[in-house]
Formats: sequence, structure tokens, C-alpha cells
Amino acid sequence: MTRQTTAELTATPRETGRGTEIRLESVTKDYGLTTPAVDDISLTIEPGEFMTLLGPSGSGKTTTLNLIAGFETLTAGTISLDGADVSDVPPHRRNLGMLFQNYALFPHMTIAQNVAYPLRQRKVGKQEIARKVAEVLELVQLTGRDDTHPSKLSGGQQQRVALARAIVFEPKALLLDEPLGALDRNLRAALQTEIRRIHREVGSTFVFVTHDQEEAMNLADRIALFNSGRIEQVGTPQQLYAEPETLFTARFLGDSNVFELGRTALGSVVWEGESWAVDPATVSAHPGVPSGCAIVVRPEDVEVAGGRDAVPAGANAVRATVRDVEYMGAYRTLLLTIGERGLFGRARISALRGDYAIGDDVVMWWRPRSQRIVAA
Ligand code: ADP
Repeated sequence: MTRQTTAELTATPRETGRGTEIRLESVTKDYGLTTPAVDDISLTIEPGEFMTLLGPSGSGKTTTLNLIAGFETLTAGTISLDGADVSDVPPHRRNLGMLFQNYALFPHMTIAQNVAYPLRQRKVGKQEIARKVAEVLELVQLTGRDDTHPSKLSGGQQQRVALARAIVFEPKALLLDEPLGALDRNLRAALQTEIRRIHREVGSTFVFVTHDQEEAMNLADRIALFNSGRIEQVGTPQQLYAEPETLFTARFLGDSNVFELGRTALGSVVWEGESWAVDPATVSAHPGVPSGCAIVVRPEDVEVAGGRDAVPAGANAVRATVRDVEYMGAYRTLLLTIGERGLFGRARISALRGDYAIGDDVVMWWRPRSQRIVAA
């Protein structure tokens, strides 16, 4: 691996030309169960991009990664790397790096021998091996541990060795399947930062599978959110959070207040007798679509007032009762019971705002531009 200059580090991977484009077109994997594990998905991962495949357990993330790696055969569709169809190319000829949850290091080999293994398989010369192993051990901050055996290292350090081994041969892309799943929370956070840095320094395409929304938001340039073998939505973490297209996406990424709607006309919506304004720019689903739709408002976009007269003109409002108050330092979260049927809601308000206690009758309000209308 060639270390980069500062100028190269600030350049995008596309400019440095290091990344590989991974393109999935109408990819299906059917194991003969009631529904395919992966059901007609199309996704283009840009050269040098950090893409996470996020979704609940069983939604098809690992199967998709294994299809890219070539460990599984396609039922239908094509997968290409930099425009070349690799659908029938065996895994070892795709030249991709892999990192799994269980580091699978060779216990009888030293750290340096473990990292050198892929290079020896590729018949790289001795001097070149020594140079590359030293370089990559520096990258993962394990310089000087060359002669240590894996059993002498902590879990986090072993995963660094596995990472070094996965990138030492400069693979076209690195595929990571829940690589931090076995580590405790603090170590996980530290290694997330490390993986981000290594991605920037190496500049190649990373595809990272996780079911943890925070991890996906921390790491990814873009997230592909999986739901039952299909891709629900693809976008930057900010897009998925702020502009969810469906209720599934809104609920999977962060907390929301959700008001399910019947069939209504665009322009305004009615929920339990409250009439609310709609900003057309916030509509992902047309109100009245047969599948139904819902209004989603994030807790940080909600304000709370003592009465309707304190609600600014043009805001959407609904009556609520405070059922609990969570103090979080700079802000507090009010847990609310909303409307006649006691919908559960939350508002995150500045700690400087008025004092609210359990049982208070309040009015929660928000600007029409900070709500989203999504398919439900
Ligand atoms: P995820 O990684 O999102 O947890 P998977 O891709 O592992 O999901 O699995 C998707 C679906 O495919 C699940 O229903 C799972 O049971 C099924 N599946 C995965 N691998 C196999 C297999 N080898 N044989 C049969 N079914 C499988």
C-alpha cells in the first residue's frame, strides 16, 4: 500500500483513482424459502465510497455481501466491478478483502506472518512483503508487534491485525461483515474512528454490514437500508434521518413522533380533528396513496407551549400531556401522551425553556417544514 501525501488525503478517492465501483443490477438470491433472501436489488457503490448495508436481522445484508464476494451464486441479476461483469468469477479471482466478526487469525503464526499470508499466496517477493507488512502494521498502529502471537493480543488488537491482513494486498474493495460485533461498546467506538481513518488513508471502496443504526450513521458516506430482502432507501446518513421516504426508514433511524393518516388531500391533513398545514417539499408519499401514509416529526423539531395562544401562527399543533421528563444536561426530553387515543410522543427541548412536570397539559407544536409525510 502506498502511503498518501496530505494533498492526496484531501482529494476524493475518485480523484486519486484508488477506489473500485461495485454495481449490483437486479440482483436476486432465492434459497427457495417463502421470499427471496435478496429480492431484485440494484445499487451502485461509487469508487472509494464508504457504504454501509444497514437493516434488521434477516433482511439480506450478509447475503448481499457474500454475493459481492462471490461466496454465493446469483439466482438472477449481475454484479460488476469497475464495469467488468464478475457474476461468474470465483471469489479468489475477484481480489476483494474480507473482514468478519471472528477475526480468524492463524494462531500458530506471528502477527507479521498472519499479515504477510495473502502476499505469500500471491508470490510477492520477500523484501516487498517486509516493506508492505511494516507499512500496514503502522497504518493499524501495531508497529513493533511483528513477532507477537495472536493469543497475546486483546480482541480489538486482533481485529486490527485481521484488518491489516485484509488490506495488505491492496484489494479492489474491502467487505466488512459486522467486524465490531464481538467488541464491547467503548472499543467499538474507538475502532469505528480507526476504520474511518484507515478508509480515508487507503482510499478504496468499503462495504460494511451492520444492524446498528448508530454505527452506520457514524461510519458511512451512504447507507443502503435493507428491509425484507429489498433496499428501502439509499442516501447519506443525514438524508435518511431528515428525509425518510417511508415509515420503516423513519423508525429505523432515530426517534420520531408518528401520526398515521387516513386518505387526505394534499395541502392540509387532519389528525384526530386537528387540521395541519403541509409543505409540499416535505412530502415523500402523496397523502391518500392506497398503502396509507404518516406524518413523522423528530423530537428535536417539536416545541412545547403551555397553551394554544403561545403557539406561533402557521405552526401545526396538538394537545398533549406530559407523562415523564428525562433530563439530559443541555436539553431534556418530554415524554408525551398525545390526543384522544393517547399516542406516545416525545419532544426534546432546551433545558432553558419553561419548567414542565408530569401531568401538565401542554400543546406540542412544530413547523410544517420540519415534518415529513412518508409512506406507511
Ligand atoms: P442479514 O445479514 O440481514 O441478517 P441474511 O442475508 O443473513 O440477513 O439472511 C437473509 C435471509 O436469507 C434470512 O431469512 C436467512 O434465514 C436466509 N438465508 C441466509 N443464508 C441462507 C442459506 N445459506 N440457506 C437458506 N437460507 C438462508
